[in-house]
Amino acid sequence: MTTPDTNHPHDFQSLPLQQALLQNLKDLGYTRLTEIQAAALPAMVEGRDVIGQAKTGSGKTVAFGLGLLHKLRVDRFRVQSLVLCPTRELADQVARELRKLARAIHNIKILTLCGGMPFGPQIGSLKHGAHIVVGTPGRIEDHLRKGNLDLSNVETLVLDEADRMLDMGFQAVLDQILAELPKERQTLLFSATYPKTIDALATRVLRDPVKVEVAAAHTKSTIEQNYYRVENNEARPGALYQLLANYDASSALVFCNTKKETEEAAQALKRAGFAALALHGDMEQKDRDRTLALFANGSASILVATDVAARGLDIEELPVVVNYHLSRDPEVHVHRVGRTGRAGQKGVALSMVSKKEIYKLERLEELMGQKITLQDVPELPRAFTPTRPVMSTLQIDGGKKQKVRAGDVVGALTGDGGIDGKQIGKIQLFDFSTFVAVERPVAKKALKKLADGKIKGRKFRARIVGV
Ligand code: ADP
Ligand code: MG
Repeated sequence: MTTPDTNHPHDFQSLPLQQALLQNLKDLGYTRLTEIQAAALPAMVEGRDVIGQAKTGSGKTVAFGLGLLHKLRVDRFRVQSLVLCPTRELADQVARELRKLARAIHNIKILTLCGGMPFGPQIGSLKHGAHIVVGTPGRIEDHLRKGNLDLSNVETLVLDEADRMLDMGFQAVLDQILAELPKERQTLLFSATYPKTIDALATRVLRDPVKVEVAAAHTKSTIEQNYYRVENNEARPGALYQLLANYDASSALVFCNTKKETEEAAQALKRAGFAALALHGDMEQKDRDRTLALFANGSASILVATDVAARGLDIEELPVVVNYHLSRDPEVHVHRVGRTGRAGQKGVALSMVSKKEIYKLERLEELMGQKITLQDVPELPRAFTPTRPVMSTLQIDGGKKQKVRAGDVVGALTGDGGIDGKQIGKIQLFDFSTFVAVERPVAKKALKKLADGKIKGRKFRARIVGV
């Protein structure tokens, strides 16, 4: 992987783009390049694979749009570019922006293929052909499988909002689509965040990519570590409540040393009105899956777990980590604390320490080479009520073994009388069940849509699983 030089162009007119594109940019009033465009476009125009990491609104669509339009040949009436987006709304938005950018290129055809839309008209449009296809993975794969879509001439593949696509469970479908694309092609991957799963995808799918990162991710992360005095073990549940209330944690991971403690702490938090769940090694696999899914998708605010159980949790942004007990092993402590404050985020690590644990504190001071001061647990804020999670989870009694795919679920939830794609969060597929997060206020509507409709022509039972 290489990083491009920092001598970036500032205005579009200095780029080696087709004259028609440059003139149109002028007409659109686009003069100065945004940071991501300045950093990514030269490499794209050269034909390199590019990984672009930048937040929403930074101009990524214009960046890859110009990259793919620049080399598009209108006289070759084949699908030359494929743009994959996580939702129909995003695909529509991208197609609109591409049409704007391509105004000056005559006879160019841009087609959107998304789930939640009738099949028939899409097949009709495909018969007429297109230069660029923009769509959601599920529907694209459907058309491929049915032989409606030929991707053997694709020269540019764009994975837009790749992190969201993986969050929504599109990994397997992406692999199926990738298998239908020529190996010899340019691939452009965009993602607002860069978790390990994206890195793995990029390594498999891109060739010697240029990685372009803009802002945010460069700022160093900071972790605030506080240590609190507790009298004895009986005082811990109450102290935990007070700590979380003071940090108003929308998403916190609480580490316990034993299974019994996880249950005791989770119970105390539940009684206080927090959406808390316990996770430990003695749970049945299906309960563990459900608990991890609810916490990871934002349907539960607090997860109380043992170290071993917490390993199954793949979450990048944990604002608060709490040590219910200090770990006996100072290395484990450092590892726990390291789960917060990732990727430039500010993190908070709160530890409870009793007199009997002072020896653990001393070991920690030794490892970190600094003195630790204990403070009192802060009082409960006045009139405190815990914030409810923003998401709710529907559990569907069908999964991979029933050939349920993320796209089918999105399709079943959206469309006529359903919810908006934007209101759907993470979709996690297991062998015999699927967890889909939806915004809490529309959970009932989403459940009704599922109950009234079908997935893959079949009825599946579903229910709201909450905390
Ligand atoms: P992202 O995909 O990074 O979230 P978009 O590509 O949707 O961002 O761009 C956000 C907005 O900025 C769009 O309305 C787009 O038309 C506009 N835009 C992009 N690049 C430029 C530019 N160089 N100059 C002016 N406006 C731009
Ligand atoms: Mg975008």
